[in-house]
Amino acid sequence: MEKRTKIVATIGPASDSPEMLLKLIEKGVNVFRLNFSHGDHDYHLQNLKKIKEAIAKSKKHVAVLQDISGPKIRVGDLKEPFELKAGDILEFVKEEIVGEQIDAHRYRLTINQKEILSKINVGEYIYLYDGIIRAEVIENDGEKVVARIENDGLLTSRKGVNFPHSRIDIEVLTPKDKEDMRWGVENGVDFMAISFVQKAADMQKARELVESYGGDVKLIAKIEKFDAVENIDEIIKESDGIMVARGDLGIEVPYHRVPIIQKELIFKANEASIPVIVATQMLLSMTKNERATRAEISDVANAVLDGTDAVMLSEESAIGDHPLLVVETMVNTIKDAESIYYYNRFDFYDNYDEMDLIDESAVRLGDDLEVEALLSATTSGGSARKLSRYKPKMPIYAITHDEKTARSLALSWGIETKFIVEKSSLSSVLTSLVQEANATKTLDFSKRYILTAGNPTGVAGTTNVIRILTQNEFEYYLDPKEV
Ligand code: PGA
Ligand code: MN
Repeated sequence: MEKRTKIVATIGPASDSPEMLLKLIEKGVNVFRLNFSHGDHDYHLQNLKKIKEAIAKSKKHVAVLQDISGPKIRVGDLKEPFELKAGDILEFVKEEIVGEQIDAHRYRLTINQKEILSKINVGEYIYLYDGIIRAEVIENDGEKVVARIENDGLLTSRKGVNFPHSRIDIEVLTPKDKEDMRWGVENGVDFMAISFVQKAADMQKARELVESYGGDVKLIAKIEKFDAVENIDEIIKESDGIMVARGDLGIEVPYHRVPIIQKELIFKANEASIPVIVATQMLLSMTKNERATRAEISDVANAVLDGTDAVMLSEESAIGDHPLLVVETMVNTIKDAESIYYYNRFDFYDNYDEMDLIDESAVRLGDDLEVEALLSATTSGGSARKLSRYKPKMPIYAITHDEKTARSLALSWGIETKFIVEKSSLSSVLTSLVQEANATKTLDFSKRYILTAGNPTGVAGTTNVIRILTQNEFEYYLDPKEV
């Protein structure tokens, strides 16, 4: 059986050759991530072409995720790096200036999104340079924000800034993001990840924009702001998936909350039957080293045991020295974690609808009958994802008539798309399934399988059939008397 937990790998200079892309797929990468915080459209287009060729060669259903950079707040340009000491004062002004030292212990600078400055209150904190430098706000007169540095650190131009206590209500899509999303629609990416989501309306906006471009893309909400954690239930309702984006999240919330938030987000995504990705610093030390740390291996294993759909590689695969080794390390760690996995998560979730109950029954029946696999005839992929949330011991083989659905399932735990069939009646679907399985030896006709389907077929969200497929039926459909 293949590993159940999926791998997302970010593509960059270390991994963008055709040979490397194919090897990454063969090693176990299920989704390629194009990071739009770096590179121009030309660069990403070249990579996308190479990725599509590699996917075609591999004959696997591998998906492409476009990560939209979002409204990352940064300090402006600085004349020279600020050598900040605890007790020094920073003045953030709204004018477009080049930052400079103005006094022995006083520095003046600005940020790229100046309207935020009026929303910052005295007593709140500003974090600079990925959270390394911390400053308390001591004054805001509406024109400038004055903050006192609490620890030493070197600040250079355009480093990131976070306001973990301030509700800044920042516009979720920048003009650059909108153009990047147009590119994504035009080039047929499968997933788009939206950065710095704060509330459900942000995801609605992103979806409206995609639709205005005539696109149909699965939208992933990156959970990396404290308000997103607070609004998670509403955000999940508007999202096709979520990412636990621990890089920024670890600055936005107290660092010691991140593991707990990770577990909560994974549970909620599993419950809603949408995929969840655990991201950032998973095997970071392997960017340079051949061996991961014990802590990193534990982190990957624990994300798997938490029930995540996918684990992600960032710089490890984009700019690291060992992209293949890092995927191999992840695969080995995943497989061992899955050997002690908590399968059959029955009576574990709230049910959203009837399909949840039907799919739970299918998994229970399959487990009692010890079937080889669960076959899920699925139009939108929804029914296969609902089987996945119970974490069945046996594989889930999706049967669909749509390549796009097949690729979208690449991100979901335990689902392998084995059959692409024509849209037709259930008995014709069964005939083509059995014929193809016979030709490709994908199923063992001496064993039992469970099939779930909607009858009539081809309508999303109508799973109403649980069928036990045995040798008898396989023989019948190999040579059907009437279809
Ligand atoms: P990023 O998102 O790498 O685009 O910042 C992931 C994260 O913040 O963890
Ligand atoms: Mn981020």
